Amino acid sequence: MEFAGRVSPAPPRLSIHWSTAAGNVLNLSGPLLVALLCALAGLLGLTTYASYGSDAAVGIAVGAAAVVAMSQTLILAARPRLLEPLFGGLDRMYRVHKWLGISALVLMILHQQVEPDFERTVRETGLGELAEEAGEFAFNALLVLITISWFRRLPFIGLELPYQIWRFSHRFMGVLFAIIVFHQFFVDMPTGVDPSLSVLLNTFGLAGVIAWVHTELVAPRLRRREFTVSEISRHGDTTTVTLSPKGRAMRWRPGQFAFFRAPEAGLSEPHPFTIASAPRPDGALTLSIKGLGGWTRRLPDVLRTGMSVQVEGPYGRFDFRKGGARQIWLAGGIGITPFLAWAESLTEAERRNIHLVHCVRTPEDAIGLETLRAAAARNPRFSYRLVATARDGRLTAERLAEMAPFEIRDADLWFCGPRGLKDGLLKGLKALGRTPRRVRFEHFEFA
Ligand SMILES: Cc1cc2nc3c(=O)[nH]c(=O)nc-3n(C[C@H](O)[C@H](O)[C@H](O)COP(=O)(O)OP(=O)(O)OC[C@H]3O[C@@H](n4cnc5c(N)ncnc54)[C@H](O)[C@@H]3O)c2cc1C
Repeated sequence: MEFAGRVSPAPPRLSIHWSTAAGNVLNLSGPLLVALLCALAGLLGLTTYASYGSDAAVGIAVGAAAVVAMSQTLILAARPRLLEPLFGGLDRMYRVHKWLGISALVLMILHQQVEPDFERTVRETGLGELAEEAGEFAFNALLVLITISWFRRLPFIGLELPYQIWRFSHRFMGVLFAIIVFHQFFVDMPTGVDPSLSVLLNTFGLAGVIAWVHTELVAPRLRRREFTVSEISRHGDTTTVTLSPKGRAMRWRPGQFAFFRAPEAGLSEPHPFTIASAPRPDGALTLSIKGLGGWTRRLPDVLRTGMSVQVEGPYGRFDFRKGGARQIWLAGGIGITPFLAWAESLTEAERRNIHLVHCVRTPEDAIGLETLRAAAARNPRFSYRLVATARDGRLTAERLAEMAPFEIRDADLWFCGPRGLKDGLLKGLKALGRTPRRVRFEHFEFA
């Protein structure tokens, strides 16, 4: 798992990636399924309109595939938990969502270029013409919005659209998709053709619109649980917040994350944070939040104990219990949070040999030491080491391999921290011929 956040005082720009190398093959079922459905729509378009000439058939095929791709982007954006296993977690689902959106854009451009022309074969109606114009409008607007989303971060020059503006513009995609559905439903088309394509497109059209309404209007109310802020503590630029459930407690597995918002403190936008504690009998949970940007830096000044806050989740599939008998847990800076939850959940009965290495800049930057100490006292198979670069120098592959109480080649490496730290260490380990048995990391980018 990789968490590239600001872990030292002045890192370049925040970016978050959680990634898993192993298990990729297993998780291809989701991407394959979405691609197959787009291909099916394209194929049906081709065969249904083949007798109207190749231009018409290709135009309809790419248009149909675009509708199915767009619909699926909206379905995935609804964060359906049931589909998470097919993709290997919400992070991957978001990646597929992003690439589906880009594919839809390309397909729409092609549809626009090879516009099927049925003027001579169908009788034009007023509604059909309106649908034509609506399709044109939605196409142009989507072109702008998808391009904005795609180039949210401009490569090389490092210019980034503020998340809030990006998110706001992203919300309109559903409205534009509804217009596209209207276009495909009412645009003048030849009659008497096989209805399978229409059935498929109407189903996906409806599903996409329902998913969007669910994402924007229903899910926020259904999935959010009310909590009370019961404790706030500060450690450097990290604020640790303990939340107690007001009603039904949330169930989560250590390593999962949730979206947190605090409207009473003026922080209405939900932000994702790993739950840094293991499930407790009273349902309380802890978040350790590092001040990285506007929202997270304001938090310690405006959040007060006793305030009502909301948590949506849990999400994610980062779980060391899926790993082998020997494990290295490697954390960079605030990337320690999932490991704190894991460490808290370790019991005496845990048979795995685990060594945690936490890299920070100064010893004072380290959080959660009590949790790690308690875990090590409970279970002798768990050990940890703090590497403070200002005091101990940089962590190198050689040092990591030496520190581990077992051969690193026979171990699984779980990672959460800045991308550069992971890449550098893996490169070094490879050069030493000591590449870990499996490396677990998981792409997680909400953009
Ligand atoms: C799965 C996951 C788990 C995380 N766990 C932790 C944790 O345990 N502790 C911790 O300190 N940080 C964690 N983060 C990072 C945390 O979410 C960001 O630091 C925070 O959202 C930044 O918001 P900001 O407005 O302060 O910063 P900004 O500078 O405004 O945003 C920086 C970047 O954060 C992302 N971001 C901003 N707002 C949102 C949002 N509402 N939803 C999603 N992404 C957004 C965008 O990529 C943006 O470019 C986690 C992130 C992810 C994805």
